[in-house]
Amino acid sequence: KDEVNIIQGALELRSKTVEDVMTPIADCFMIDIKSTLDFQTMREIMSTGYTRIPVFDVERTNITSILFVKDLAFVDPDDCMPLRTVCKFYQHPLNFVFNDITLDKLLDEFKTGTFHMAIVHRVNNEGPGDPYYEVIGIITMEDVIEEIIKSEIIDE
Ligand code: ADP
Repeated sequence: KDEVNIIQGALELRSKTVEDVMTPIADCFMIDIKSTLDFQTMREIMSTGYTRIPVFDVERTNITSILFVKDLAFVDPDDCMPLRTVCKFYQHPLNFVFNDITLDKLLDEFKTGTFHMAIVHRVNNEGPGDPYYEVIGIITMEDVIEEIIKSEIIDE
Protein backbone atom coordinates (compact mmCIF):
# COMPACT_ATOMS: atom_id res chain seq x y z
CA LYS A 1 0.00 0.00 0.00
CA ASP A 2 2.79 2.42 0.97
CA GLU A 3 4.70 1.50 -2.18
CA VAL A 4 1.69 2.17 -4.37
CA ASN A 5 1.28 5.58 -2.76
CA ILE A 6 4.93 6.44 -3.28
CA ILE A 7 4.83 5.39 -6.92
CA GLN A 8 1.70 7.47 -7.42
CA GLY A 9 3.35 10.40 -5.64
CA ALA A 10 6.40 10.08 -7.89
CA LEU A 11 4.24 10.00 -11.02
CA GLU A 12 2.36 13.09 -9.89
CA LEU A 13 5.59 15.10 -9.77
CA ARG A 14 5.10 15.67 -13.47
CA SER A 15 1.77 17.39 -13.00
CA LYS A 16 2.42 19.47 -9.88
CA THR A 17 4.22 22.78 -10.04
CA VAL A 18 6.55 24.57 -7.69
CA GLU A 19 3.83 27.07 -6.84
CA ASP A 20 1.52 24.23 -5.70
CA VAL A 21 3.84 23.14 -2.90
CA MET A 22 6.12 26.09 -2.08
CA THR A 23 6.06 28.02 1.20
CA PRO A 24 4.57 31.43 0.31
CA ILE A 25 6.70 34.44 1.13
CA ALA A 26 4.19 35.60 3.77
CA ASP A 27 4.82 32.37 5.74
CA CYS A 28 8.62 32.52 5.46
CA PHE A 29 10.75 33.33 8.43
CA MET A 30 13.11 35.97 7.06
CA ILE A 31 15.47 38.49 8.50
CA ASP A 32 16.24 42.09 7.62
CA ILE A 33 19.78 42.71 6.31
CA LYS A 34 19.96 45.70 8.69
CA SER A 35 19.66 43.42 11.73
CA THR A 36 22.37 43.14 14.33
CA LEU A 37 23.32 39.69 15.55
CA ASP A 38 22.74 40.37 19.21
CA PHE A 39 21.48 37.85 21.72
CA GLN A 40 17.81 38.59 21.10
CA THR A 41 18.06 38.19 17.30
CA MET A 42 20.19 35.05 17.51
CA ARG A 43 17.78 33.51 19.97
CA GLU A 44 14.87 34.29 17.65
CA ILE A 45 16.69 32.67 14.69
CA MET A 46 17.57 29.57 16.71
CA SER A 47 14.06 29.17 18.09
CA THR A 48 12.52 28.90 14.62
CA GLY A 49 14.45 25.67 14.02
CA TYR A 50 15.04 26.53 10.33
CA THR A 51 18.42 25.78 8.75
CA ARG A 52 18.30 28.47 6.09
CA ILE A 53 16.96 31.97 6.57
CA PRO A 54 16.36 34.26 3.60
CA VAL A 55 17.73 37.77 4.18
CA PHE A 56 15.84 40.71 2.69
CA ASP A 57 16.69 44.32 2.03
CA VAL A 58 13.86 46.84 2.59
CA GLU A 59 11.12 44.61 1.15
CA ARG A 60 10.49 40.95 1.91
CA THR A 61 10.33 40.20 -1.79
CA ASN A 62 13.86 41.57 -2.23
CA ILE A 63 15.93 38.62 -0.99
CA THR A 64 19.61 39.48 -1.16
CA SER A 65 21.27 36.66 0.80
CA ILE A 66 20.64 33.38 2.57
CA LEU A 67 21.87 32.96 6.12
CA PHE A 68 22.68 29.38 7.15
CA VAL A 69 22.20 28.85 10.85
CA LYS A 70 25.64 27.21 10.92
CA ASP A 71 27.12 30.57 9.82
CA LEU A 72 26.37 31.70 13.36
CA ALA A 73 28.77 29.17 14.90
CA PHE A 74 31.58 31.74 15.16
CA VAL A 75 29.40 34.73 16.00
CA ASP A 76 29.52 35.99 19.55
CA PRO A 77 26.24 37.76 20.43
CA ASP A 78 28.20 40.17 22.67
CA ASP A 79 30.00 41.52 19.57
CA CYS A 80 26.65 42.67 18.10
CA MET A 81 27.94 41.95 14.60
CA PRO A 82 25.90 43.38 11.73
CA LEU A 83 24.13 40.61 9.77
CA ARG A 84 25.43 42.28 6.61
CA THR A 85 29.01 41.44 7.61
CA VAL A 86 28.22 37.73 7.99
CA CYS A 87 26.31 37.64 4.68
CA LYS A 88 29.21 39.34 2.89
CA PHE A 89 31.66 36.87 4.37
CA TYR A 90 29.82 33.69 3.33
CA GLN A 91 28.07 34.92 0.17
CA HIS A 92 25.99 31.78 -0.26
CA PRO A 93 24.63 31.70 -3.80
CA LEU A 94 20.95 32.47 -4.35
CA ASN A 95 19.12 29.98 -6.53
CA PHE A 96 15.91 30.97 -8.27
CA VAL A 97 13.27 28.78 -9.89
CA PHE A 98 10.12 29.72 -11.74
CA ASN A 99 6.70 29.14 -10.17
CA ASP A 100 5.40 27.08 -13.09
CA ILE A 101 8.10 24.44 -13.47
CA THR A 102 7.02 20.95 -12.51
CA LEU A 103 8.36 19.12 -9.47
CA ASP A 104 10.19 16.45 -11.51
CA LYS A 105 12.26 19.22 -13.12
CA LEU A 106 12.90 20.83 -9.74
CA LEU A 107 13.98 17.48 -8.32
CA ASP A 108 16.47 17.14 -11.20
CA GLU A 109 17.85 20.57 -10.34
CA PHE A 110 18.17 19.67 -6.68
CA LYS A 111 19.89 16.42 -7.63
CA THR A 112 22.41 17.95 -10.02
CA GLY A 113 22.87 21.31 -8.31
CA THR A 114 24.55 22.05 -5.03
CA PHE A 115 21.49 23.53 -3.36
CA HIS A 116 18.38 22.20 -1.67
CA MET A 117 16.50 25.45 -1.28
CA ALA A 118 15.36 27.76 -4.06
CA ILE A 119 13.64 31.10 -4.18
CA VAL A 120 10.47 30.98 -6.26
CA HIS A 121 9.76 33.85 -8.64
CA ARG A 122 7.25 34.49 -11.37
CA VAL A 123 6.90 36.87 -14.26
CA ASN A 124 4.45 39.56 -13.24
CA ASN A 125 2.95 41.14 -16.33
CA GLU A 126 -0.16 42.53 -14.68
CA GLY A 127 -0.64 46.26 -14.62
CA PRO A 128 0.55 48.91 -17.04
CA GLY A 129 4.32 48.72 -16.38
CA ASP A 130 6.93 46.42 -17.88
CA PRO A 131 6.86 42.77 -16.78
CA TYR A 132 9.15 42.02 -13.85
CA TYR A 133 10.29 39.05 -11.78
CA GLU A 134 8.35 38.86 -8.54
CA VAL A 135 9.50 36.70 -5.64
CA ILE A 136 6.56 34.69 -4.27
CA GLY A 137 8.00 31.94 -2.06
CA ILE A 138 10.68 29.44 -1.19
CA ILE A 139 10.86 25.72 -1.86
CA THR A 140 13.12 23.03 -0.47
CA MET A 141 13.93 19.41 -1.20
CA GLU A 142 11.70 18.48 1.73
CA ASP A 143 8.65 20.00 0.00
CA VAL A 144 9.28 17.72 -3.00
CA ILE A 145 9.87 14.62 -0.90
CA GLU A 146 6.64 15.26 1.01
CA GLU A 147 4.79 15.14 -2.31
CA ILE A 148 6.38 11.80 -3.14
CA ILE A 149 5.59 10.17 0.18
CA LYS A 150 2.33 12.13 0.48
CA SER A 151 2.67 13.02 4.11
CA GLU A 152 4.16 15.72 6.27
CA ILE A 153 7.69 15.18 7.48
CA ILE A 154 7.82 16.10 11.15
CA ASP A 155 11.03 18.03 11.74
CA GLU A 156 13.60 16.95 14.29
P1 ADP B 1 14.78 23.07 7.58
O1 ADP B 1 16.02 22.22 7.38
O2 ADP B 1 15.10 24.49 7.84
O3 ADP B 1 13.78 22.47 8.55
P2 ADP B 1 13.53 21.92 5.28
O4 ADP B 1 14.25 21.94 4.00
O5 ADP B 1 13.56 20.65 6.09
O6 ADP B 1 14.08 23.13 6.18
O7 ADP B 1 12.04 22.39 5.02
C1 ADP B 1 10.98 22.14 5.91
C2 ADP B 1 9.80 23.00 5.55
O8 ADP B 1 10.02 24.33 6.03
C3 ADP B 1 9.54 23.14 4.06
O9 ADP B 1 8.14 23.19 3.84
C4 ADP B 1 10.17 24.48 3.69
O10 ADP B 1 9.52 25.11 2.60
C5 ADP B 1 9.95 25.26 4.98
N1 ADP B 1 11.01 26.25 5.25
C6 ADP B 1 12.35 26.13 5.12
N2 ADP B 1 12.98 27.26 5.51
C7 ADP B 1 12.00 28.13 5.91
C8 ADP B 1 11.98 29.49 6.43
N3 ADP B 1 13.10 30.19 6.61
N4 ADP B 1 10.77 30.04 6.73
C9 ADP B 1 9.61 29.34 6.54
N5 ADP B 1 9.57 28.08 6.05
C10 ADP B 1 10.73 27.48 5.74
